[in-house]
Amino acid sequence: MAPISLKRYAVLASLCAATALAPLSVHAQQATVQDGIKVRPLSTSRIFAGGADFNAESKQQYAQLVNEAKEKNALVPDSDPQVKRLRAIAQRIIPFATRWNEAAANWNWQVNLLNSDEVNAFCMPGGQIAFYSGIITKLNLTDDEVAVVMGHEISHALREHSQAQAGKGNLAAVGAKLAGAGLSAWLGVDPNITSTATNMAAQGVMLKFSRDDEREADLIGMDLAARAGFDPRAGVILWQKMAAVSKGAPPEFLSTHPSGKDRISQMNSHMAQVLPLYARSKGVSVDALPPYRSNAIAQR
Ligand SMILES: [Zn+2]
Repeated sequence: MAPISLKRYAVLASLCAATALAPLSVHAQQATVQDGIKVRPLSTSRIFAGGADFNAESKQQYAQLVNEAKEKNALVPDSDPQVKRLRAIAQRIIPFATRWNEAAANWNWQVNLLNSDEVNAFCMPGGQIAFYSGIITKLNLTDDEVAVVMGHEISHALREHSQAQAGKGNLAAVGAKLAGAGLSAWLGVDPNITSTATNMAAQGVMLKFSRDDEREADLIGMDLAARAGFDPRAGVILWQKMAAVSKGAPPEFLSTHPSGKDRISQMNSHMAQVLPLYARSKGVSVDALPPYRSNAIAQR
C-alpha cells in the first residue's frame, strides 16, 4: 500500500503545484492574447534605417521644432485646456503601446499642440507627438476622435513605419520631392515652422507613408483607442469629417493618405474586432454600448 499512497501524494503535490502556478500562467497568457487587431512582427527593412540613431535624431528634431514654434509664438502653452486634454488622452493610450512595440516602454513620450490652421498631427519614431490646432478646431474633434487620430499617429511610430521607409531607400525619393514641390504644401506644415520641417524631412524623420502603412495605422489606432476606453466608431466619423472639410482642395492629412472611402470601409469591416475591446474597457457587453455621438462641424 505504501507505494500507492506515495504515488497519490505525488499526484496531489503536483496538483497543488499546478494550482499555485495557475495565476502566474494565466497572467502570462493575458499578455499575448490575440484579441483586437492581430499583432504582427515588425518589418525587417527597418533595421537598415540606423536603429537607435534614428530615434535620437527624431528626438532632437522634435526638440528643435518645439523650440522654433515657441520662438514664433506657435507653441500652445502647457496651461492651455487643449494641451491638457491631449496629454490626458495620451496618458490613457500609452500604457497599451508596448503590445505593439516593447521598446515603447522606454520612449520619451511627449505631447505638444502647435498653433496652425493645418489639419494635421504626427508622432515621431520615439514617441514625440504633435497636434496642429487646425485638426481639433476645424473638425471639432470629440475626445474619442482625438484618441483615434493619436492612436493612428502613435501606430506609425510603434510599427516603425518611418524606419522601414528609410530602410527601403526612400530617402532619395523624399529629397527629390522636396526639390520639386512647395515644402509646406507637401508636409502640411505651417510656413512659420517650415525650416525645421525641412530638416525633419531631409533626415527622413517625416516620411510619406505607404498606403499599407496608413491602413495598418488606422486599424491599430482604433485598437489602441478602444483598449484605452475610447469609442473606435469615432474613426469612421473622423474620416467623414475629413471628407466634409476637404471639399475642393483636400487637407494635407488627407492627400498623403489613402482615400477616405477606402479607410471608412476598412474600419467598418474591422469594427467587430475592436468594439469588444471598448466594451470591455467600459465593463459592458457590445450590445449595451450606446450609439456613438459626435460633435457637428461648422459648415463653410
Ligand atoms: Zn498616417
